Amino acid sequence: MSELHFKAGELDAGDDLASVRSRFVLDDVVYLDGNSLGALPANVPGRVEDVVRRQWGELRIRSWEESGWWTAPERIGDRIAPLVGAGAGQIVVGDSTSVNVFKALVGAVRLARIGGAGHDERGPGGSGREQRDEIVVDATTFPTDGYIAESAARMTGCTLRPVTPAEVPDVLGDRTAAVLLNHVDYRTGRLHDLPGLTSAVHAAGAVAVWDLCHSAGALPVGLDEHGVGLAVGCTYKYLNGGPGSPAYLYVRRELQDRFDSPLPGWNSHAEPFGMRPDYTPAAGAPRGRVGTPDILSMLALEAALEVWDGVSVAGVRAKSLALTDFFLECVAAYVPARRVESLTPVAHAERGSQVALRCSDAGEVMKRLIERGVVGDFRHPDVLRFGFTPLYVGFADVERAARVLAEVWGEAPGGGPGDTPEPGGGAG
Ligand SMILES: *Cc1c(COP(=O)(O)O)cnc(C)c1O
Repeated sequence: MSELHFKAGELDAGDDLASVRSRFVLDDVVYLDGNSLGALPANVPGRVEDVVRRQWGELRIRSWEESGWWTAPERIGDRIAPLVGAGAGQIVVGDSTSVNVFKALVGAVRLARIGGAGHDERGPGGSGREQRDEIVVDATTFPTDGYIAESAARMTGCTLRPVTPAEVPDVLGDRTAAVLLNHVDYRTGRLHDLPGLTSAVHAAGAVAVWDLCHSAGALPVGLDEHGVGLAVGCTYKYLNGGPGSPAYLYVRRELQDRFDSPLPGWNSHAEPFGMRPDYTPAAGAPRGRVGTPDILSMLALEAALEVWDGVSVAGVRAKSLALTDFFLECVAAYVPARRVESLTPVAHAERGSQVALRCSDAGEVMKRLIERGVVGDFRHPDVLRFGFTPLYVGFADVERAARVLAEVWGEAPGGGPGDTPEPGGGAG
C-alpha cells in the first residue's frame, strides 16, 4: 500500500493538469462520478447570478440582443467545437441528448435516401437508395438511444437492427439508411473505433450518427478529420455544464444544406421573425434549432466551458489513460483476486475515461463506498462505475478509491459481500 501511495504522490507532482482542479468547487470527497454529473466550475454561480439579476432582471427583453442570448446556441457550439475536433459553424447547442438523437437519426435516414453522407461512390442517383429501410443501432446502447431509434425506425418505415458495434460492418449494405453508435459504452467504458466504423458506414452509402456523451471532454473525437456526418452529445458529464444542461448537435458542413430536421421550429426558420406560415429552413448550424433556447442553463454551460481555457484535449487524454491505468493497478494490488472483474478494456485504444468493475452485490458495495467518501455509481445489475475526469481527479484520489474499495470488501461478512474469500488474497 505505501508503495502505491508514494507512486501516487510522484504522479501528482508530475501532473500538468493538477492546477486545473482549483477551477472547480470540490471538497475532500473522491468524486468519480463526473461521467454522470460533472463537478461545479467555480465561476458558474457568479455568472448565473449576473444572468438572472442583471440580464434578465434589469435588461429584460433587451438581453436577446444586448446580452447575446439569441446567438448563444451557435456561439457555445463553437466553444465546444475544438473539444470534439470540429471547425466552427457546425455545432448548435440546445434541447436534450434524447431530442438531438431523434433529430440526427431521422435526419440521417432522410439524407441517406437522397444520396448518403456525400461519400457514396455511387453518388446521387446510385442504385438502391429508395430501398434504404434499415436503421442499425448498438444493441448495448444507453437506453434512450435505443428507444428513440425504435420510434425513428417506425416513423421512417425502417426496420431496426440492433447489433453489437463489432458486428456493424457485417450487417451494412444497400438497405442500410443510418447507423446510431456510441463512441464510448456507458456501462463498460469501451471506446469504439469511430474512424473505422464511420468509413465502413459511408462506404455502404449510409449515414453514421455518433453519440459522444461519454467521450467529449475526455478524449479526442476528431469529427471533421474522420468525416463524421452527424453527432450528438450531452454537456453535463465531462463538460461540467450542470444538471440538465443543454445538449448539442453536429451537422457536417457539407451536409447542412441537405439536413432535413424532423423538428422544424420557428427558431430554425431562415427568417424567425418573419412569422411566415410556410417553413424555410435556416442555412448552417441554426437549422438544428427547434424552439426558444433554455438560456439560464445555456449560459451556465458557457461559463463552465471556460475551465478549458489553455487545456489541450491531448493532455486530458494522456492523463485520463494514466488515471485509469493506475486505478486498475491499485485495484489489482489491493482487492483480492477474482472478487471483481474489470469490464473495461486493457488496451488504451479501446478504453474511454471510466473503469467498470463487475462484482456481486455491487449496489451494496457502492453504497458503502459513498459512505466513506468515494463516489462512483452503480449500474444494474452488477456494475460499479468509476469515472475519471482528468480536470479535477488526481492520482492520490485514485489510490484512495482503490484502498477504500478493498476495505469495504475486507469488512463485509465472509470477507466480501456474497463471495468466498480467495486464499492468499490481499484485502486490507
Ligand atoms: C448520458 C447519456 C444520454 C443522456 O440523454 P439525456 O437526453 O440527456 O437524458 C444519452 N445517451 C448516452 C449514450 C448517454 O450516455
